[in-house]
Amino acid sequence: MAKQNIDWSNLGFGYMKTPQRFVSNYKDGKWDEGGLTADDQVVISECAGVLQYAQTVFEGLKAYTTADGRTVMFRPDLNASRLRNSAERLEMPVYPEDKFIEAVKAVVAANADFVPPYGSGATLYLRPYMFGTNPVIGVKPADEYQFRVFCTPVGPYFKGGAKPITIRVTDFDRAAPHGTGHIKAGLNYAMSLHAIVTAHEEGYDENMYLDAATRTKVEETGGANFLFVTKDGKVVTPKSSSILPSITRRSLMYVAEHYLGLEVEEREVFFDEVKDFAECGLCGTAAVISPVGKIVNKGEEICFPSGMEEMGPVTKKLYETLLGIQMGTIEAPEGWIVEVK
Ligand SMILES: *Cc1c(COP(=O)(O)O)cnc(C)c1O
Repeated sequence: MAKQNIDWSNLGFGYMKTPQRFVSNYKDGKWDEGGLTADDQVVISECAGVLQYAQTVFEGLKAYTTADGRTVMFRPDLNASRLRNSAERLEMPVYPEDKFIEAVKAVVAANADFVPPYGSGATLYLRPYMFGTNPVIGVKPADEYQFRVFCTPVGPYFKGGAKPITIRVTDFDRAAPHGTGHIKAGLNYAMSLHAIVTAHEEGYDENMYLDAATRTKVEETGGANFLFVTKDGKVVTPKSSSILPSITRRSLMYVAEHYLGLEVEEREVFFDEVKDFAECGLCGTAAVISPVGKIVNKGEEICFPSGMEEMGPVTKKLYETLLGIQMGTIEAPEGWIVEVK
């Protein structure tokens, strides 16, 4: 198949319709076979559960070309199990994890000429998701669901180098202690939109959310987990039951410990101690790590010693090592890289 004639390195993070997507429907207590389709339109009842009561969960992962020319995905088994957890929390049927892997592989294979070439910095972003489709007006879970996976090529997250960003501590809360912060549900994003729009209006790139109960501990941003580096080189990440368990963050903590020989800690992080860290970064699939240069809390600024020009040294080492593992230039732990046959 011929690669698409796309200016890969200048793509943004946006939706581009690709030829094939996977669709499976759940009805009468079971999932159908599912399959690929060219139809990008979803037609559902005006009263569908997803439209009335936001019964929808999603995942995000990427397929890309390694240095030696293989098409692979990064740890899709963790996306499959996280989707399971998300679905269970919202009283939705579980999409079987082995079938999830088959579905994402099928979508990548069917859109192979949209997988960006190695070295472009671009990837094929995969979006598996599920939603309640039948009419629901009295509040209850839907009886029928649709699982879909589409893909869209996205550009390199950092164009012209990874510049540190500035974030603010927001007065809004993201997740309640026993709420839904730990699952990947659209509802967590709907309520974050006002906070991010106002953050951008005020000149900040992102919001840092504190724990809703005491507002003393660091949680995460709207869509990425925090990593901090202490002045003596320890890697610290906040522990909380209302944080979304980022696959990138979990992978980076493993890399810090087992590849770089660093001490790692997953523990409660009080906002008061943030000023004492040497480096700060945000972890997620799209960027791997975005370095944070400055955090502003009601006019008070915390400026990390790594500055506003480049990543801190430990953050950079973590970034380069995980990227090397993903691209096949550094040997990966067993099972992390899954080839699309
Ligand atoms: C998806 C997501 C992340 C990042 O998770 P990855 O698995 O690393 O992509 C972090 N926080 C939230 C709230 C998310 O939805």
